[in-house]
Amino acid sequence: MLADIIVVGGGASGMMAAGRAAELGADVLLLEKMPRLGTKLRITGKGRCNLTNVADLQEFIAHFGPNGRFLYNAFSRFFVEDLRAFFERMGVATVVERGGRVFPVSNEAADVAEALRRYCQDAGVRVRYKTAVDRLLVEGGRVRGVGAGEAEFPARAVIIATGGASYPGTGSTGDGYRLAASAGHTVVPIRPALVPLETAEPWVPRMMGVSLRNVRATLYVDGRPVASQFGEMLFTHFGLSGPIILTLSRHPALAARPSPDTRIEIGVDLKPALSDEVLDARLRRDLDTHGKRAFRSIVKGLVPAKMVDVLVELSGVPGDKPAHQITAQERARLFALLRDLRMTVVGQRPLREAIVTAGGVALDEVDPRTMESRRVAGLYFCGEVLDLDADTGGYNLQAAFSTGWVAGESAARGAAQG
Ligand SMILES: Cc1cc2nc3c(=O)[nH]c(=O)nc-3n(C[C@H](O)[C@H](O)[C@H](O)COP(=O)(O)OP(=O)(O)OC[C@H]3O[C@@H](n4cnc5c(N)ncnc54)[C@H](O)[C@@H]3O)c2cc1C
Repeated sequence: MLADIIVVGGGASGMMAAGRAAELGADVLLLEKMPRLGTKLRITGKGRCNLTNVADLQEFIAHFGPNGRFLYNAFSRFFVEDLRAFFERMGVATVVERGGRVFPVSNEAADVAEALRRYCQDAGVRVRYKTAVDRLLVEGGRVRGVGAGEAEFPARAVIIATGGASYPGTGSTGDGYRLAASAGHTVVPIRPALVPLETAEPWVPRMMGVSLRNVRATLYVDGRPVASQFGEMLFTHFGLSGPIILTLSRHPALAARPSPDTRIEIGVDLKPALSDEVLDARLRRDLDTHGKRAFRSIVKGLVPAKMVDVLVELSGVPGDKPAHQITAQERARLFALLRDLRMTVVGQRPLREAIVTAGGVALDEVDPRTMESRRVAGLYFCGEVLDLDADTGGYNLQAAFSTGWVAGESAARGAAQG
């Protein structure tokens, strides 16, 4: 049966596209390779789904880097307030948290996924699960449908919403890049973005599981500070993770190391709220007031328990040395560690562990007003399959929702005319 529109992929952008197109009257078939919709969406924001951010438009776009310009049009049609109102209508009230991040009040990412599934269902979208599209049917410069194994599905328009290539267990295995390339599209080489970093120092894994809030991490390239982030981070068995580390991981120096000899480091200021004078005064006071206590016990009052032994060792001060015997030099060494705990970055974790995939369908071959391909008539793209990626904070999902909305609307209008 000929569908008006086939949407390939039932993630954040695909459900939005399918629901919107069906709401406008199109006959929509949504093909999803997994047994359910929105698998990735359900694990976003540590299961809470940071669905957007209340940053103003300019700042919002800046979080995508230079490619963010592509989004002006989509955001002028469907942006943060529209998205929040949409979910409110679907019974998912949202709340703004630290850093302008927006979450469902229920703190359940599944509620967001279910709301989108219901949106599709109510609008009459037909869904076919466990259907992995492996080819596009194109004739005379116009899309005619898709193929999945033995089956062929004819359609007037096709929307590719297959996501990126990270967290492949969620179904996002990069199929859309292959489909786009087969239709003559340029695919900007994909690479991990928002990815944890591996470090060299053997003492880092000893602090595994320690989560630090309100710290400042600075990225150094050959000793020069190039970027800095304030917030939350985490020590892991391989190195560093957490929001501020993921954000720093998008820096070009990490995406493509300028040379193999380039020295890349992360320095963590464990006490960024305290000026040098105040921090030094705090150390002096601690050492003076608790003169009989061991140095280790002083350090214990300053950092999480799992960091104490590491910091004591790095300071070179015997842990059992009484505080009143600590020299000015030794105090300075502790000060330096608290101000700048330096670690050498030896690599990024692989693409499958990245929160988003950078690279993708080249933006100059897609019309930003409609999301339609400039190569093949009736073919549309939305979401992470496009060459778009942003910092953490809800920006990536808003881009998926907005481009999905526009692709659905344009494809429905195209179908109505043709
Ligand atoms: C752990 C984690 C946490 C995240 N947290 C956040 C967050 O809090 N906020 C935020 O803004 N972003 C977050 N992201 C990023 C965000 O989830 C993605 O950018 C977003 O889901 C992209 O939407 P999409 O629709 O393009 O792709 P996806 O949501 O990945 O959906 C793609 C869908 O297409 C299907 N598919 C793929 N190939 C085929 C095929 N050949 N045939 C049929 N179906 C196919 C897949 O099964 C999948 O269901 C997170 C990502 C991860 C991995």
